Amino acid sequence: MTATRAAGVPVVEDGWLVSTNPATGEEVGRFEVASSDEVSEAVGRAREAATWWVGLGHAGRRARLLRWRSLLAQRVEEAAALVSREGGKPVAEAIVETVAAIDHIDWAARNARRVLGPRRVRGRLSLAEFSAHLEYLPMGVVGVIGPWNYPVVTPLGTVAYALAAGNTVVFKPSEYTPAVGAWLASTFAEVVPEQPVLQVVHGLGDVGAALCRAGVDKVAFTGSTATGKKVMAACAETLTPVLIEAGGKDALIVDADADVSAAAEACVWGALTNAGQTCLAIERVYAVEPVYDAFVAEVVRRAGALTVGYGDGFDIGPITMPKQIDVIRRHIDDALSRGGRAVLGGREAVEPPYVKPTILVDVPEDSAAVTEETFGPTLVIRKVADVDEAVRLANATSYGLGGAVFGKRHAVAAARRLRTGMASVNSVITFIGMSSLPFGGVGDSGFGRTHGDDGLREFSRAKAITMRRGPSALKATTFERTPAHVARIVKAVKLLYGRSRP
Ligand code: NDP
Repeated sequence: MTATRAAGVPVVEDGWLVSTNPATGEEVGRFEVASSDEVSEAVGRAREAATWWVGLGHAGRRARLLRWRSLLAQRVEEAAALVSREGGKPVAEAIVETVAAIDHIDWAARNARRVLGPRRVRGRLSLAEFSAHLEYLPMGVVGVIGPWNYPVVTPLGTVAYALAAGNTVVFKPSEYTPAVGAWLASTFAEVVPEQPVLQVVHGLGDVGAALCRAGVDKVAFTGSTATGKKVMAACAETLTPVLIEAGGKDALIVDADADVSAAAEACVWGALTNAGQTCLAIERVYAVEPVYDAFVAEVVRRAGALTVGYGDGFDIGPITMPKQIDVIRRHIDDALSRGGRAVLGGREAVEPPYVKPTILVDVPEDSAAVTEETFGPTLVIRKVADVDEAVRLANATSYGLGGAVFGKRHAVAAARRLRTGMASVNSVITFIGMSSLPFGGVGDSGFGRTHGDDGLREFSRAKAITMRRGPSALKATTFERTPAHVARIVKAVKLLYGRSRP
């Protein structure tokens, strides 16, 4: 039976979550909603599976994860087709997303032993009789809560690293993309059939909340800042550590010596890919005066040529979450009613479930279109005097996820000055695919890191061991020490650290 409902709005019918295509309303799948007891049971099973998964060691886990990587690579078109059916994005965009996720699995699998494995570290002269050893051990069971906008790369950006670090995972996909979440877990079960190392629990937000309280050893949350705060509050009850990957309001700076055409091409994709429903979307541009006019003209020309619709041949799909259309409309209205101009699109661009590309200029910096995450195919471009003003305005936001700079002489320096976790020079968003680099934000964009060495350590606990190699010259940690020993300690500290020269 196909339920009557608004396209794309997930509903629960008789305990089943029904997922539909946001453009056509076609039912994509139905998934049994987990009760909080069932969530706890899943965590219990994951805890038992963890013993087996840890027992495989780095080599065993690496082999399994690389097999999963290969399976996903072989079935990349199948994954992309499902992502497109359930979320509405063009298949080509879903392929790009899935490829990035596959690369993360590959990197995490290949690097876990190097980053986390046991090693000896340099000791200290003051403790010369001890050697120092370090390794990073799994935390246990990681709860992953994912968003709908990138239902493959956002969860796998944490799942792959958590698994490679030796944890098992219970994953709660967004209610908008349960089919993709189920597909990911079933492909993993094909290469790891022995134990429930990666499980999925379905449902609405309350199931995510239950996962936070189900005794997991860490929660990795990707989603909005508002929900991130709720997740953190729930985790605080049990002192469960949490990673928050939240929203953004990324800016692009275009300097006078930038390749304007390349900047416009990258900007249009960065702002409009996935209909702007990207945490790292370029939502603001600060272009310096000498290149501003040419840049705006080039952005409008390129954005105006894009096609909007669902299916083959369209560049921009529907807005996945119908209620987001109200936010996008409000931001456009606010910008226009406060002196902004739409040089492309505008109020009439909002045609649910679609929003056509909308480029806004002369928008006041305190307008909602500049201060809040829009999550739609809109862009605000502002003229600035120089890079310093651009950096100052780019940083004048509570968010701090990513950013981009186009230019030559000052570009890297400006990228370093952005108050963000990531930045790209002469490209946009590329850092999310660079598996070797950490990913995460500051401020309202969250904290903690996925990807790279830091992403592996995020799902580990450092284990430090000191080992005695011989008798202590300075008897400090014993009641056997005499006043002469203490005098020797005092003499040693003055010798070692008492000189004023560095
Ligand atoms: P939401 O915050 O609405 O939801 C995120 C996840 O949290 C969903 O699985 C949701 O379940 C679940 N959830 C909802 N309520 C609770 C709760 N009380 N306790 C625990 N879990 C809960 O975000 P969206 O799915 O709308 O995703 C869009 C947002 O994600 C944007 O702000 C975007 O910027 C951000 N994002 C950040 C990324 C990053 O890496 N920094 C990457 C991608 C997106 P349900 O869907 O069932 O309500």
